[in-house]
Parts: sequence; structure tokens; C-alpha cells
Amino acid sequence: MRGALGSPRLLLRRLREVMVEPVSAQERLDRIVVVIASNMVAEVCSVYVLRIDGTLELYATEGLNPGAVHHTTMRLGEGIVGTIARDAEPLALSDVQQHPAFSYKPETGEEIYNSFLGVPILRAGNTLGVLVVQNRAHRVYNEEEIEALQTTAMILAEMIASGELQALAKPGADIAVRRSLHLHGVALADGVGLGHAVLHEPRVVVKDIIADDTQSELTRIDEGIATVRETIDRLVERGDIAHSGEHRDVLETVRMFANDQGWVRRVREVVMTGLTAEAAVKRVQSDLRARMLRQTDPYLRDRLHDLDELSDRLLHALTGEQFGVAREDIPENAVLIARSMGPAALLDYDRSRLRGLVLEEGGAASHIAIVARALGIPAVSEIPGITSLVEAGDAIVVDGSAADVQVRPQPDVESAYAEKARLRARRQEQYRSLRDLPAATLDGESISLNLNAGLLVDLPHVAETNADGVGLFRTELQFMIAERMPSTSEQETLYRQVLDQLSGAPVTFRTLDIGGDKVLPYMQVVDEENPALGWRAIRIGLDRPGLLRAQIRALLRACGGRAFKIMFPMVATVEEFVRARAIVTRELVYLRKLGHVEPSSISVGVMVEVPSLVFQIDELVRVADFLSVGSNDLMQFLFAADRDNRQVADRFDPLSAPMLRALKTIHDSASAAGKPVTLCGEIGGRPLEAMALIGLGYRSFSMSPASVGPVKAMLLSLDSAAIAAEIDRLLTMAGDRGTLRQQLAGFAAARGIPV
Ligand code: PEP
Ligand code: MG
Repeated sequence: MRGALGSPRLLLRRLREVMVEPVSAQERLDRIVVVIASNMVAEVCSVYVLRIDGTLELYATEGLNPGAVHHTTMRLGEGIVGTIARDAEPLALSDVQQHPAFSYKPETGEEIYNSFLGVPILRAGNTLGVLVVQNRAHRVYNEEEIEALQTTAMILAEMIASGELQALAKPGADIAVRRSLHLHGVALADGVGLGHAVLHEPRVVVKDIIADDTQSELTRIDEGIATVRETIDRLVERGDIAHSGEHRDVLETVRMFANDQGWVRRVREVVMTGLTAEAAVKRVQSDLRARMLRQTDPYLRDRLHDLDELSDRLLHALTGEQFGVAREDIPENAVLIARSMGPAALLDYDRSRLRGLVLEEGGAASHIAIVARALGIPAVSEIPGITSLVEAGDAIVVDGSAADVQVRPQPDVESAYAEKARLRARRQEQYRSLRDLPAATLDGESISLNLNAGLLVDLPHVAETNADGVGLFRTELQFMIAERMPSTSEQETLYRQVLDQLSGAPVTFRTLDIGGDKVLPYMQVVDEENPALGWRAIRIGLDRPGLLRAQIRALLRACGGRAFKIMFPMVATVEEFVRARAIVTRELVYLRKLGHVEPSSISVGVMVEVPSLVFQIDELVRVADFLSVGSNDLMQFLFAADRDNRQVADRFDPLSAPMLRALKTIHDSASAAGKPVTLCGEIGGRPLEAMALIGLGYRSFSMSPASVGPVKAMLLSLDSAAIAAEIDRLLTMAGDRGTLRQQLAGFAAARGIPV
């Protein structure tokens, strides 16, 4: 005997009948509350729906004053109903008036009811409303009743999400399922994009909520879990899992949960209340997500994430839908939404249809960020829960400059962003009008503007921006997006394509800069305490010369008759450079021996990005053909501040005496030795910083394509002698000031230099 409760399965069956009756939305809702009240032997059953303005509105009731329907409202957190909605947790009270949050609405006539059971109406972890039953007697609602009401709430959630209730909303009080959201994350790639949400991993849509035969649903759950366990075991055992963003430790945790009897039992319990296997998984997942969205402990959040992934896998196993990606047929104006994504996955989409990318996870230095930037797709990450907050097709705005995401924006917000996008386009248009002007300062100093690149998709930008060439070709990008180590001949093909496409414009290839944060999915990960200071880049190249030799061979062959220009990353001593250079010489001998066409010229340079080189710069310029300053790493190592750690990355300013003096030393030594020097870090692409660098004597830069216009606009209004004198003056009297930014900005403003 289950106390006062009728059979939960009978309740669901009755509700299923109501759901298909050809009646109006209000009538259906009214019938639902009657069915629930009678089945749960409650005198009252009410449905409160969350509105866009954040208040809850009474949408239907059996037992309370019918006149209160669509009149009674309360704020999130107000009263007991508001508390349930805010906390997304059920509340069962046998003496409701004793609860500290109790506040009573006289128009409802609820004061005579003493016991209260309320559950949140949740969908994908979001609260859409609250479902309540009340009794006059001081009654204790048991677990089974709470469970049954939660299951019923799921049906209401689907009804709200279907949009059926929208027609009942009063003007200006729309239902929150379509609520606009403003979310703030981490900027990955610049630009403003407007479009419609496309889920990278489409959610399984559960069509049948109520089971015909609970026993067979339990069997399906067991079989589904067995399938998921097998798949995860297989993935963990396979070596190449990381390329799709599925890192081993995540899978290991998911595997642990798949074997966790507590979770499995929970899903089975929910099936027992009368739901189909899929609906039960969805319900448990929704409860978890609700908890996850309110969780601040990052460790617990991660664990809940893993459970979320397990639920997704189980749903796919149950429905037979592929756990993967539907890349074809994405609509025009697509904004991709994903928890995380590998660079290869992004490249698989049709670029011309992508307007933006929003991720739950992925840092600004991640590979996906690099690819998004290369493709010019505005991107924002670190938006927790975005995959559950949006529905496919929702309007989305991505502002990759401000790191903002607008979900289902109000018309005025949307048009403000559309205007911002138009303005950007107009500014780009203005920059394009500078395209054919020679890049020279007012006093006639020519400045060489080059692009940073790493993928074939980057190359058309050279002609678009009229850049002189590619000043930094990050060869590791091809390795990072590949599923396995590219063979020597695959590398050769790519390098040849690069040179062919640039048709004579110079390109400086940088040898593999892997290790640190740049992990190759197919390469064994070395566990290091401080990967940025660890076994990376040229250090790997010299310790395992096979890889470096193969790359140099591929580059030499690809060059055949053209200029060969390479440089080595993360060199810390002159001796390292000399050893690396010797490998080039050896490969050249080999090339001759095999009768390949030799390059027309050979130029071997070095990235100056480890501060130790600044103190052996005179020796270095004697043996290197050219220098290229990697200011991103130089800055990070000079100030001992991790470039990818948000807490410290912006703590120190490159426009401060220590960095500017280091940059000056490098420039002056190269110049005295007659060796070319370029700067290829991010600061070269920022107008104010580039202005200071011109003042230090730099005449060659390599930057992202979007920076060429702004830097060119700056230098066209700059007198290089004046900035040189100003920088000299500022450095002499820098004193204990942390930054010279303000003075430099003042210099630019006084002369009308756009920075
Ligand atoms: C740098 O360190 O400044 C640089 C250009 O190289 P990367 O950003 O690839 O480390
Ligand atoms: Mg670097």
C-alpha cells in the first residue's frame, strides 16, 4: 500500500490521454492539475510558470481560487514556490506556515492548506516553473510521492518547451523558456557574429515519455549501459582519442560513473515511476544539470559534467542515434555550440555558413582558438552550461571581442549587435582602402607588414591585406589538427602548397613548436610540473633529431629552387642554435647527394623568446642569419607570468621599461651586425605597441590578418623620428613607473595617430 498516492503509472497514463485531447492549452493545463490532484489525493494542485521577467505566474490550479490564475505572481526566491524555482530542488513540508520563506497570497485562499509539496519543472537543468500539491491535513509526503510529482513535472516541462503555453502569456510576460540570456566568457576569436544555434553534438529528442511496459524499459536501460561501458572501454584503449576533444582522464571518469551502481540505480528508480528509458535518463540528467548550474566548486562541476556526458552517451545508445557530429546540412548563419571541440572538427564544417562559435570549455591559447582565429570565426568560451541553455535554432549573438554571448536576444539588443557588426565591416572596408598604399611612416620609413599563419586557410589573407609575406608559419598547427603524425611527404606537400599559393612572397617557416600547451594528440604526453618550462620545441628537436630532420628535409624539398627560410623556436643558448643549424647543413648535403633541386637561398634564423638570449645576443647575431622576436613568450618568461593564466597574463605591461629595454637590446644588436630582425608576437599587431616598437627601431612585423589594417593606419600618420625621440626620453626617465602606456597614448593622441 502506498499511502495516499495512487499508482504513478496510472497517473502517467491518464496524463498521456490528456496530452492528446483536442482542447485549448488552458483547458489541457486545467485538466492536468485535476488529474494530478485526484491521483495524489491532494486538495490542491497548481502550476506556476517562470516568465521572461524572472517572476513566476500561476497558470492553472485545482483547489485554489480560480480567479488567482494569471494574476498571482511571485519573484524567484520569494515565498516557498520562489525558493523551489531558485534552488531547483523539491520541498516537502507538513507544516508549510512554519517555513521561514512562507509568504501567503490572500487572493489564492491557500491559507487553509497546511502541507505542501512542490517540485521544480526542469528541462535540461533549467527551471521552467514549479508544480505544487497541497493538503489541508498535516501530511508527510513520502519519497515515492516526491518522485512521482517530479516525473509529472517532466511532462509539464515538455509541454512548456513545446511552446504550447506561449499563447496564454500576457503581453510583456512571456514564458521564460524563450528567455533572453546575456552570458560572459573568455574571448577566443575576434568579431561579431549573428546567427542561429547549431549543436555540435545534437541532443537526443525524446519523443515517448511514458512507458507502455516498465519491465522492457528496465531491460533497455541495462542493455544501454552495457553498450556504453563497452564503447568507453574501447575508446580508452584506443590510442588516438584526444583529437576529438575526448581526453583520456575524462573518459576514465565517465567509465567510473558508468560502473557506479548509485547512478544506475537512480535511473532505474525513475523508470519504475513509469517513464521510458530515454525519458528517465533525461530526467536524471536534468536534475544533475540543475545542480551543476548552481555548483561553484570546480571539482564537483567537472564530475557533474562527466555524469552529463555519460547520460548523453546512454541516450545515444538507447535511441541508436550516433554519438557524434552532424556537420552536413548546417543552416546558413550557424553559430556552433559545443561543450568542447577539437580543431579538426571545426575545420570539417563549411566555413561560409559559420557565424560564430560558443564553447563551454577551451582557453584562449587552445588549438580550437587558433583555428577559429585563422578562419575568422568570432568565438567565445568558458560559458558553462551553454549546451543545455540553448535549443537548436535559437537566435544567438557572439561578440568575440567583448567575450559576450546573447542567447535569444531582445530585438533592440539584436539590432545593436547588428549595427556593431556593420560598423566593424565598415571599418574593415576603410582598412581595405589603405590596402594599396605603401606601408611607410610620414618621414618615409618603410615598414614591412607580414602575417602569422599556420594553415592553408590562412594564406588568402596575404593577398587580401597586401602583406609582404608570411613572417611566421607555425608548422605545429598542421601537426596539432592531424589525427596522426604527418609523414615527411605529407609535410612536404603542405609546405609546397604554402609556397605555391604565396607565389613568390617570402615565408618564414618555424620548426615544430610542440610541448608546453601544444600537445599532439597522438604523441605520448610527458607529465611535467611546468610544461611551459619543460621539454618542448627545439629541446625535443635536438634530443630526438629524427623529427626535426624529417621536417627540415620536407621543407628543403618543398622549396626546390625557391628561397628557404626557417627559424627555431624556444632556443635558450647559442649552442642550441648552432646544433640546430648543423642539422640544416647536413640535410642540405643529403639533398645534393640525392640530386634534388637546391633552394635559391638559405636563411636560418632564431626566435628570440627566451630571455637568456638577450644576454648573449651579440654572439647570437654572429651565427644566425636573422632574428624574430617572439614577444608572447619573451614577455611570459621575462616577467615569469603564464601567458595563458588569466589571473596573471595582464598583470605586466609590455609597454614598460624592462620589456622595452629588452626589445631595444635585441634590435640594436641585430642592427649593428646587419642582421634583419622581425617581431612576430601579438604586440606587433596592436597599434600603440607597434608605434613604440617603431620608436625602438623595428621595421618589420608579423601579425594576424585583422591587425594589418589598424597597424597600417597608425604608421601612415606616424613620424618615426619623433617616436624614437619620445621613446628614448621616456626610457631614460622611466623611473619606477610600471608602464609607459599612458604617455605613449598621450603622444599618439596629441598627433592624431590612430591607435
Ligand atoms: C611568441 O612566442 O611570441 C610567438 C610568436 O610564438 P607562439 O605564440 O607560437 O609561441
Ligand atoms: Mg613562442
